Amino acid sequence: MTSFQDSTPADVHAACEAAHTVFASFGASDAATRARLLRGLADALEGQRETLVKLADEETNLGAGRLNGELDRTAFQLRGFATQVEQGAAFAFTDDPAVAGAPPVGHPHLMRVRVPVGPVAMFSASNFPFAFSVLGGDTAAALAAGCPVVVKAHSGHRRLSQAVADLARAVVAAQGLPEGVFALVDGPGNLVGVALVQHPRIQAAAFTGSVRGGLALQKAAQERPRPIPFYGELGSVNPLVVLAPALAASAELAQGLAGSITMGCGQFCTSPGVIVVPQGEAGDAFVAQLAQALTAARPHAMLTPQMRAGFESGRNAWAAHAKLQVLANETAADGEPPRAFLAQVTAADFIAEHALHEEVFGPAALVVRVQGSAQATQVLEAIGGSLTVTVLGADEADDAVLALVRAATQVAGRVLFKGFPTGVAVSAGQQHGGPFPSSTQPFTTSVGWAAMDRFLRPVALQDAPAWLAQRQGRPC
Ligand code: NAP
Repeated sequence: MTSFQDSTPADVHAACEAAHTVFASFGASDAATRARLLRGLADALEGQRETLVKLADEETNLGAGRLNGELDRTAFQLRGFATQVEQGAAFAFTDDPAVAGAPPVGHPHLMRVRVPVGPVAMFSASNFPFAFSVLGGDTAAALAAGCPVVVKAHSGHRRLSQAVADLARAVVAAQGLPEGVFALVDGPGNLVGVALVQHPRIQAAAFTGSVRGGLALQKAAQERPRPIPFYGELGSVNPLVVLAPALAASAELAQGLAGSITMGCGQFCTSPGVIVVPQGEAGDAFVAQLAQALTAARPHAMLTPQMRAGFESGRNAWAAHAKLQVLANETAADGEPPRAFLAQVTAADFIAEHALHEEVFGPAALVVRVQGSAQATQVLEAIGGSLTVTVLGADEADDAVLALVRAATQVAGRVLFKGFPTGVAVSAGQQHGGPFPSSTQPFTTSVGWAAMDRFLRPVALQDAPAWLAQRQGRPC
C-alpha cells in the first residue's frame, strides 16, 4: 500500500492473516520480548519527535506545545506497559491447590490464568493523534498483553499515521519480530473499518470516537458469526457540580473552568459540558465570571472542517433554543477558529429535555441552575453515563452530599473532587470509561495499566501437567 491509497479488502485480509500467523509465537512471548518492543517503540517516537510533531501540527492544528506533551505521554505509556509486563501483570494468575474429599469442598488443582485474546483491531481517535492513535494506549495495552495489532488510521491525520506506522514496522523488523505483530490499514470507516472488525482473525476491537461511528462498528462486531468484544469509548458530557462552599473562590474557579472548557478547542473526551451551579447571588456572580472568561478566550482551530461544522450546528441549535439563556456567543471572523459558547438553563428544563444532555463537541458548555444538592443529584441522574463527574465543595459530608456523590459514582467512571476533568493520568488507579454512552464496556478502562485486562481472557487450567504449571501464567 502506498502512502495515500486506501487499503483494499485484500490489504485488510493480508494484515489480519499475518497477525493471526504471528499470534502463535507473540502470544506466548516472554516479558523481555514484549518490554523490548514497547520500549523500542517509545524510543523511536522520541527519536523522530521533530518530524512527527510537525506533521501532526499540520494535520490537526493542535500546536507544537500540546503535541510535544502528547508525544511524551505516549512514550511514557509505552514504557509504563513495558514495566507492567516485566513486573508480571500480563501473566498474573490464581493458583488454587487441590482439596481432597468429595465436592463441593473437595476440588482438583485449578490455575486461573489469562491468555491473550488474539489479533486486535484498533481504531485511532481524531483528537489525540499520538496518545489515542497508532501507538497510543490501546496499541500499547494490546501488545503488552501479547496481542498483535491491526490499526485503522483516522482520516484526520493520515500522513502522521503512515509515518508512525513506518517507524513501528522498522522497530518490529530491527528486533527480529515477524511483521504481523503490527499493521496499519487506512480508508473509510464504513468499508475498511467494517471489514477489519468483521475479519474472522480479529478477536477484539478498541475504539475512541463518536457515538454514531462507535455504534456502527459495534453492530458490525456483533453481527459476525462469532461476535467479539468491542471496547468503544464514545460521547461524554462530563458534568461538573459546583456546591456552595466552592463558590468562595469563584473568580479563580471561573478562570480555571474556562481554561478546561476551551482546552484543545473543547475537543477532549473529558471536556466539561454541563456545569451545575446553585441558584442565588453567589452562583450568579460565578456564572457571570465564567461567561466573561469564555468570551475572552481564543481557542485554536478545530481538528477538521467536519468537526467545526458539527460544533456550529450544535451551538446554533442551543442558541436558538427557547429555554436557554445565551451568556457567551461571540461570532468568529471568517476563517478564524470558533469562539466559546455558554448558555444557562433551569434544572427542570434541562431534566425534561433529552436533547440538552447530548455532547456538543467543541468549546461549549451549558450551565444548569439548581435549588440545592438534591436537585443537582437529579440532574446527574438525568444525564446518565459519563466518563467523569466533578464535584467541587464536597468537603463536609451530609445526607444531600452523600446522595450526590452516590449518584456521581453511579453515572461516571471517574469522580473528581478537585480540579477539572481534562487531563487523564496514566497510572494504576485510573478508570477511563463509564456507563453508556461514555463506554460500551463500563467494567473496563481504556487508560491506565488496567487497560491491558481488556485483551486477556481468563482460562482455568484444571490439573495442569507440571510443565504447564511451571510456566507460571505465561501462555504456551
Ligand atoms: P468518528 O466519526 O466516530 O470516527 C472514528 C473512527 O470511526 C474513524 O476511523 C471513522 O472512519 C470510523 N467511523 C465513523 N463512522 C463510521 C461508520 N458509520 N461505520 C464505520 N466506521 C465509522 O469520530 P471522529 O472523527 O473522531 O469525531 C467525530 C465526532 O466524534 C466528534 O465531532 C465528536 O462528537 C466525537 N468524538 C468523541 C470523542 C470522545 O472521546 N468522546 C473523541 C473524538 C470524537 P473514517 O473517518 O476514516 O471514515
